[in-house]
Amino acid sequence: MTTKRTKSSFRTMSSKRKLESIFLFVTGRCNAKCAMCFYAEEMDKKEPDLTFDEIKKISETAGEINRLWISGGEPTLREDLPEIIEMFYKNNQVKDVNIPTNGLKPERIVEWVTRLRKSCPETNFNVSLSLDGFGKTHDIQRGVPGNFYKALYTLKLVDEHFRDDGKVLKNIATVITKYNIEEIQDFMLWVFARFHTSTHTIEAARGMTRDDGVKILTESSLRKIQDDVAHIYSGYADRMVQETSGFRKPITRFFYLGFIRTLYNVRASNIDEPTPWGMDCTAGETTLVIDYDGRFRACELREPLGNLKDYGCDVSKVMQSDAMKQEIEAIGHGAKANCWCTHGCWITSSIVFNPSKMLGMVYKGYREMKKLNRPIVFDEEMLRGMEEKYGLDREKLDELHIGKS
Ligand code: SF4
Ligand code: SF4
Repeated sequence: MTTKRTKSSFRTMSSKRKLESIFLFVTGRCNAKCAMCFYAEEMDKKEPDLTFDEIKKISETAGEINRLWISGGEPTLREDLPEIIEMFYKNNQVKDVNIPTNGLKPERIVEWVTRLRKSCPETNFNVSLSLDGFGKTHDIQRGVPGNFYKALYTLKLVDEHFRDDGKVLKNIATVITKYNIEEIQDFMLWVFARFHTSTHTIEAARGMTRDDGVKILTESSLRKIQDDVAHIYSGYADRMVQETSGFRKPITRFFYLGFIRTLYNVRASNIDEPTPWGMDCTAGETTLVIDYDGRFRACELREPLGNLKDYGCDVSKVMQSDAMKQEIEAIGHGAKANCWCTHGCWITSSIVFNPSKMLGMVYKGYREMKKLNRPIVFDEEMLRGMEEKYGLDREKLDELHIGKS
């Protein structure tokens, strides 16, 4: 089955700012203990999750939104997640849903996405699987022995079920830390070669992490990694254009590569110290973060501004509240802006609300990616060599039919 993705990213290309994305932390529970988790302290508070009825009120008062970024905790631990997403489809005409997972519930994620593809046919789903490195590296970073092979199993299942479904994006998300920095290039190549993934995002650890000392990136080390893996993104662009036709092919390639490079450039320039993005951050105007217990924020990295429950779970009231207005004022705009960070989700969200700046930045990014492009070279011998070098279990890989002869 090949189904075209609904174009929503550029539907928002306008300077008119309105709530476009909700980041909904559906649970404060998690079955992993990631070293770089920025949410560990919040989850430790062990407040009850928002109830379904509270989330219903949120959905009913949010109006039309383009994107629903599910977050947590581990979203697959929230039993009624499919019903929640279906509610946003019905009430909010949501076009893109991002479902991150640590991959510890393989069958569940496939069962749910299968159901959601039927019940929300117009929506694009981005299944974003966390994979942080080869075998032990991943398990150490995630704090769960055996997580790596389970996550690979999840990836295999998702790939088998949705391989030809253009409305299910299969993203791999890797957070760069002291544990995986030395193997990140090999790992990205291995993932690209072994699986039919749609894209592979790399993130810098952000916020207050569970373990001190995992953040070791500098601007120059991050830029080097980004340059070294640029050709792999060209490979992903090739995969992406295969799913499009005619004049869309070069446009898809241009925006995918230009966008990734813009995002990565902005992020790299903020690693050592906060540096203006070259555009406004629209946190609090176009985005709303809702913590699992109902507290709300303009973005994940700023402090909570109150609790939705004190506003009857009414999103329109929260967006008009003095607390949110003061927060937007504090973040500032243009020359008066004073808050910058490395957070990819907000950089991405903000780019589309700054269309005049965006085209120039994306064009520059695309040109840089073109210059950095080189052939992606691998063969079975090389991949097997990597699997041996990083101590992967051949039997387990064979069971998963990964590189099985
Ligand atoms: S990063 Fe995600 S998967 Fe890891 S402990 Fe935090 S919430 Fe759980
Ligand atoms: S720049 Fe970063 S920390 Fe500041 S408001 Fe935007 S997303 Fe939040």
